[in-house]
Amino acid sequence: MEQTKKCPSCGGTMIFNPGFKSLLCQSCGRKDIIPELVSKIPVEEMDFLTAQNTASHDWGMEAKLVQCKQCGGVTIQNKLQMSGFCPFCGSTTVEAADPAQDIMAPNGVIPFEITEKRALYIFKDWIKDRFLAPELLAQNAQLNKFYGVYVPLFTFDVLTINRFTGHYNENNRTLFKSGRFQHQVDDFPVVASKQLSTDKLLLNVIKDYRTNEAKPYTPDALAGFPCEHYSVGLSEAWNGIGSEMDSYLKNQALRQVESKFLMGIQMATEYYNLKYKYLVVPVWINSFFYDNKLYTVLINGQTGKIDGQWPKSFGTFAKKTAMFFLGSFGIE
Ligand SMILES: [Zn+2]
Ligand SMILES: [Zn+2]
Repeated sequence: MEQTKKCPSCGGTMIFNPGFKSLLCQSCGRKDIIPELVSKIPVEEMDFLTAQNTASHDWGMEAKLVQCKQCGGVTIQNKLQMSGFCPFCGSTTVEAADPAQDIMAPNGVIPFEITEKRALYIFKDWIKDRFLAPELLAQNAQLNKFYGVYVPLFTFDVLTINRFTGHYNENNRTLFKSGRFQHQVDDFPVVASKQLSTDKLLLNVIKDYRTNEAKPYTPDALAGFPCEHYSVGLSEAWNGIGSEMDSYLKNQALRQVESKFLMGIQMATEYYNLKYKYLVVPVWINSFFYDNKLYTVLINGQTGKIDGQWPKSFGTFAKKTAMFFLGSFGIE
C-alpha cells in the first residue's frame, strides 16, 4: 500500500493540485496527472442490500481519524500528511484518534476544481453585500484562511412505483384525481456530514454538485486535504430521506397531471433496486467565532457556489471596514 506521495524527481511532497486533476510537487513544481481523474470510467453504483459485505474499507493510504477538541469535527487524514488543524473551525487543538481501517472508504470522488485563489475572489464578491464590524477583525485572525476539505455525500438510485390521489378545483367544483406512475430516481443526494448539515444555507452548497462528473476514488485526489468522517451512516442516510424524497416524488406526480394544480396529494410508494454511491466532495471552508458562536461560510469546490452564516447583529460600518479587511487578503 502506498503511504504517501513522494515526488519522483526530487523526493518532495506531492499534494493534489485543484483545477488540474494532478499532483503538484511542493518543492520542484513537478505535475503528474492522476489517471483516475481523467478516465471515462463512471463511479460504480453499489448495491444497498449487500453494502455491509461488499463496501471497501481500503482508503489506499494509512489513514487516521483526527478529532477537533474545539468543535468536535472528525476528519480522516493521511497519517504521513496530517495537517494538524481542524478545517471546520481553524483550531490547532486536534488529536489523532484511532486508525480509520473500520471506516467505509468512498467509491467515488469529485476533485477540487476551484482553486484557493478563486475561492477568495468568490468570497470577496459575496462579502461585499454583507456588513462587517471592526471587532470581527480583532477577534478573528482565522477568517483570512480558507481550508479545503472533502465532505461525505451519499447518492441514491432507486426505482419507484407510485400511486397518488389529490384534488383540484374547476368551475367552483372540487374534483378528484388519482394516478399511478413509475419513476427512476437518479443520484438523489444525502449529505453525510452532521458538522455541516445543521444549516440550510450550508446544505444548499453541498447539494449543488454535478455528481455525474464524479470519478472513481483515488487517495491521490485527497493528498494534502483532510476528509470528513461521515457522521450519518449509509442506512441512516437512506432511512432519513423520507420527507425530501416525498416532496420530490410529489413534484413528479404533478407532472403526470400537467395543467391541473393538484392539492392535498397523498402518495404510496414502493422502492426497488436501491443503489448508492459514496462520494467525497470538495468544499472550501471559512469559519470564525463571534460571541462564542461558530459561523461558517462554504464554497462548493466544484461549482463555486457560496453561502453561509453571518452574524445578523453587525453594524453598518460596511464599506470602509470591508475594504481594509479584504486588503488583508492581499487580493484588493
Ligand atoms: Zn519535486
Ligand atoms: Zn474544529
